[in-house]
Amino acid sequence: MLKIGILHGDDIGLEVVPEAVKVMKAAAAKTGLQVEWLPLPIGKQAHELHGHTMPDVTIEALKTVDGWLQGPIGHNAYPRDDPTWINPPLRKKFELFASVKPVKSYPNLPSVHKDVDIVFLREVTEGMQSSSVVFAGSGEFRPNDDISIGMRVVTRKGANRVAREAFEIARTRERKKVTSVHKEPVFRLVCGMFAEECRKVAAEFPDCTFEEVLVDGFAMKLVMKPQQYDVVVTTNQFGDILTDEGAGIVGGLGLAPGLCVGANQAMAQATHGSAPDIAGQGIANPYAMIMSGQMLFEWLGRRRSEPKAADAAQRIARSMDRLIAEAKLLTADLGGKASTSQMGDVVAAGV
Ligand code: NAD
Repeated sequence: MLKIGILHGDDIGLEVVPEAVKVMKAAAAKTGLQVEWLPLPIGKQAHELHGHTMPDVTIEALKTVDGWLQGPIGHNAYPRDDPTWINPPLRKKFELFASVKPVKSYPNLPSVHKDVDIVFLREVTEGMQSSSVVFAGSGEFRPNDDISIGMRVVTRKGANRVAREAFEIARTRERKKVTSVHKEPVFRLVCGMFAEECRKVAAEFPDCTFEEVLVDGFAMKLVMKPQQYDVVVTTNQFGDILTDEGAGIVGGLGLAPGLCVGANQAMAQATHGSAPDIAGQGIANPYAMIMSGQMLFEWLGRRRSEPKAADAAQRIARSMDRLIAEAKLLTADLGGKASTSQMGDVVAAGV
C-alpha cells in the first residue's frame, strides 16, 4: 500500500491536480495498486484554515507519505506579508535533492525541434540559491552599498546523489547516456567537485555512456541539436536556466512536468506556476501535472520495487501519447478546444 499526499495549491492547481489524481486513480485501479490518498492544505486554503500557507499539520503529514502531488502556489492568492516561502525550504526540509524534468517533443505538436527526448536532473538543495546553501540566514549579503556577495555550495554528498539518480534513470532508457554539465576549467573547486563525483558514479555504471560538456557550449548545442542528449545532470543554477531552455524547445510550459526526488520520498510538481490569468475557466492544460504524477508512480515503482506502480506509470504514459497523437481533445494552448477535465477524462479512460 502506497500513501500519496494531494496538495492542490492555488489558481489552476485546483483544476489540474484533480485531473492528475483522477488519472492516477484510474491507472492504480487497472493494475491493482493500492494507494491511500491524503489531501493536505497548502497555499491560500491553508492560509485561511491555519493562518499559514505551509502549516505544520501539512509538514507533519508529509513525513508519513511515500510521495505527494503539489500544485503551483499563487503568490497573489494570499497576503504578501505571509512569512512562508514554500518550495525551496520544502525541498531542503525533505531533502528532495534532484529536480527531474523530462523534455519531450511530439511529432504533431508545434515545437522548435522534433525527436527530442531528454531527462534533465537539476540539483536543488545546494548550489547558488541563497535559501539552499545555509542553515540559517541567507547565502547572500551586502557588506556595503557597492558590493553584493552570493555563495555557491557543492558537496560531495549532494553531487554524488544527483549523479547516481541520473545514472539510475539512464539505465532505464534506451540510449543509456549521461551528460554532466559544468564549467570545471573556470570554477575549479565547485564545478570540479561536481565533475569528480559524476566521474566516480559513472565508473559504477559501465553499461551507461558518460560525457562531460561545459555549460556555455551546452546551452548552444541544446538549441542547435538537442537530439544528441539523453540524460543531463547539472548543478542548481545551471539547471534552473537549462531546464526552461529545454521546455522552450519542445513547446513550453504546458508540456513541462517534473518530479523532485529524495532518498525516500518524491514530490510531483509541474514547472508552470498557478496561471491566475486563466484560473477558474477550465482551460488549463493538465498534461504537465498528469505527467508529473506519472513520474511519481514510475519513481515509486523503481524505488519501492513495486511493479504495479511501474505498470500504472506506463499505462498513463501510453494513454497520454495516444491522446496527443489523435489530437482530438487538446486544450487551447495545444491548439485544441477541450477543457481541462475533458482532457483528463480521456487520459483516465485510456489507461
Ligand atoms: P505561470 O506559469 O503561472 O504562467 C505563465 C503563462 O503560462 C500564463 O500565460 C499562463 O496562463 C500560462 N500557463 C501556465 N501553465 C499553464 C497550463 N497548465 N495550461 C495553459 N497555460 C498555462 O507563471 P507566472 O504568471 O509568472 O506566475 C503566476 C503565479 O505562479 C505567480 O504567483 C508565481 O509566483 C507562481 N509560480 C508558482 C510556481 C510553483 O509554485 N511551483 C512556479 C512558478 C510560478
